[in-house]
Amino acid sequence: MSGKISRREFIRSSVIAGASIGLGFAGSEMLRANNRFDTIIKGGVIYNGEGGAPFPGEVGIKNGRISAIAASLGESADKIIDAGGKVVSPGFIDIHTHTDGNLIDAPLGDSRIMQGVTTDIGGNCGESPFPGRRHQDLDGFYSSLPSETGINYGTYTGQGSLRQFVVGDNDIRCTPEQLEQMKKIMALQMEQGSAGISCGLEYTPGSYATNEEIAELCKVVASYDGLFAIHMRNEDDRVEESVAEAIEIARKSGVRLQISHLKAQNAANWHKAPALLKMIEKAEEEGIDIAFDRYPYTAFSTGMSSFIPLDKREGTRDEIIARLKDKEESARIGEYALSRIQRLGGPANVVVTSCKQETNKQFIGKNVEECCAITGKDPWPFIRDLLVEENVSVSIIGFAMTEENVKLFLSHRLGMPASDGSVYSPVGPLGQTMPHPRSYGTFPRFLGKYCRDEKLMGLSDAIRKCTSFPASRLRLKERGSIIPGYFADIVVIDPLVIADAATFESPHQFGPGINEVLVNGIHTISNGKVLQGRGGILLGRS
Ligand SMILES: [Zn+2]
Repeated sequence: MSGKISRREFIRSSVIAGASIGLGFAGSEMLRANNRFDTIIKGGVIYNGEGGAPFPGEVGIKNGRISAIAASLGESADKIIDAGGKVVSPGFIDIHTHTDGNLIDAPLGDSRIMQGVTTDIGGNCGESPFPGRRHQDLDGFYSSLPSETGINYGTYTGQGSLRQFVVGDNDIRCTPEQLEQMKKIMALQMEQGSAGISCGLEYTPGSYATNEEIAELCKVVASYDGLFAIHMRNEDDRVEESVAEAIEIARKSGVRLQISHLKAQNAANWHKAPALLKMIEKAEEEGIDIAFDRYPYTAFSTGMSSFIPLDKREGTRDEIIARLKDKEESARIGEYALSRIQRLGGPANVVVTSCKQETNKQFIGKNVEECCAITGKDPWPFIRDLLVEENVSVSIIGFAMTEENVKLFLSHRLGMPASDGSVYSPVGPLGQTMPHPRSYGTFPRFLGKYCRDEKLMGLSDAIRKCTSFPASRLRLKERGSIIPGYFADIVVIDPLVIADAATFESPHQFGPGINEVLVNGIHTISNGKVLQGRGGILLGRS
């Protein structure tokens, strides 16, 4: 090394050189003022998010960005954060959330930032708060969000929301004019910074679209290099056909494909997981840009209305309720619901997690078998009455997946963890609900249980799956890695103690091991305590 400038000196001198550019003169006072960092993170081991070997070093932050990385950066900073020998990682990026409007009730993003997430991507499963009557477009929705948020937020455009806005709630073909209008609106959302398009083909009215219609919208998204996130048409008995369908849409449209919350649901389908991965690998070999995400839990969360067959979910809520009240219709819907519940493993595997009517709140946190014991009703009459009383809005959790497949998906080269959850907070209105614990625990659970305890992969690769991998899928500029020039979204974690604490019985829990969180350079969490600053931005906003 002798005779050469050391790495440390090089970085120091480039920082100084960079700071003096454009000054016109370089008085020593000016130099010192400009060489000063806003924050230096010292005493940590840097995992830069790219999957390589970690190295001890310091991270200098200025104007919201990482401005230098070196063995030592001195003391010239407004704030020094001591990482205490722990891991310095890029902030986690959650590619699949339903955060959306919840940011209004919890602008800090409590359940997210306290697990080290610095960026949430919402608008998944075909549903976004725009376009619609309330928010015409992404710009309109962004304007409705709080001006100060703790985390960064970006969003897909929901294909179901788009179809509802243009075509309506019914199971009809769109006209050529309507298709043109949807394409135009889709293009506008991309212009405004949307991450791409999401589908929820188990839900209405998005599922009423033909594959050709979806492919046409995906072509628009592809022209902006956006991503197509698909909640597939079926995730149990016809899951192989559904993966094939997703790949076919990508093939036809040229769009980059992200299969959402990949699963093979119900015991009868668990054996299909390796075949699904084969199909995905084959598509990749063929040249399709494909990956998938998965939450690190064996239970799913959805609406109880998924027990109503799609054709009986058509139209307005009043129309659906009328069907539930009609004797013959109800009997037919009940048959379908019971067969679904049977395949899930019985009513004990279905837990009610949210309802609004005072008299029904006693059911929150109880499984359908327990609810039936309380009410003296059989499962279908109980579910039917609950749906009617709650205006069809009841959330449930279903235990229908196997641990073995969760591991298989998370450890696969093309798999990454994502919560499928949302922003929640133990305080305020959101604290009254019983969300799936994944909203609080996904990333600590992935790094603690699956990486450290079960040794599915090394820490560097696990961190890559939480950071640069989702960032590259989303084409997020200058995020997801600790590289000079990148935005300073950084989390300091203790890999020995990191764990999820949220449970199905008590979901509003923060786990240990998330020591410090910075979002765009703003130090927001320190030793588990919330500081004053809020650094989040709305991604893609012009
Ligand atoms: Zn979904």
